[in-house]
Amino acid sequence: MSVRARVRIHEIYDCIQGESTLAGMPCTLVRLAGCPLNCTYCDTPEAIPFDSGEWMNIADIVAEVSKRKRPLTLVSGGEPLAQKGCARLLEALADVSPLLQLETSGSFDIGSLHPAVRRIIDIKTPDSGEESRNRWENIAHLKSGDELKIVLCSRADYAWALQTLSRLGNTLAQDIPVLFSPVESRLPATDLAEWMLQDNPPARLQLQMHKHIWGAEATHV
Ligand code: SF4
Repeated sequence: MSVRARVRIHEIYDCIQGESTLAGMPCTLVRLAGCPLNCTYCDTPEAIPFDSGEWMNIADIVAEVSKRKRPLTLVSGGEPLAQKGCARLLEALADVSPLLQLETSGSFDIGSLHPAVRRIIDIKTPDSGEESRNRWENIAHLKSGDELKIVLCSRADYAWALQTLSRLGNTLAQDIPVLFSPVESRLPATDLAEWMLQDNPPARLQLQMHKHIWGAEATHV
């Protein structure tokens, strides 16, 4: 693997992982620039342009992450897998990260990534405006340590999520956690909690912890 390869980085910073089953862990977040999607709720629109941020060699990114000595590294975006060098970056980070997560829209193939990468697929609902981007073939690649996140904007999205989980059935391995995450400005968590108590869906309610720590404007995913 060539660590001279480079990727375009929007930012690298330390934070508390605010989402997933590893929420609460100290973490170094590596945010790649660029996303071909345009979700209605995107909270990092500044990372959508592919010319945002700056080019960095993979070796320099690994050095930057290593010196921070965090127990968790999170690679996010933008859509990280939209950059050709992302798979190589993940391979290099796997050597220096006790835990390594990738947050992806699931619109690119995840099948050939380094086995140490814990993939979080962010399934796109109808109200995200990007439902057609879901690459359903990825579901069969999910393994222990991976997670499915569904960001919900409305009651209609919630109903869609229930139907989707039912449709996926055994295609989705039993040990893959499913997280329902409400868009705070559009769907009160109290409503979603009420619906989940009525229906007992095979999912957990997830709130964005970083926004409770650093305020509603805090970005992460
Ligand atoms: S996939 Fe993520 S970064 Fe891209 S538009 Fe959607 S929320 Fe924003």
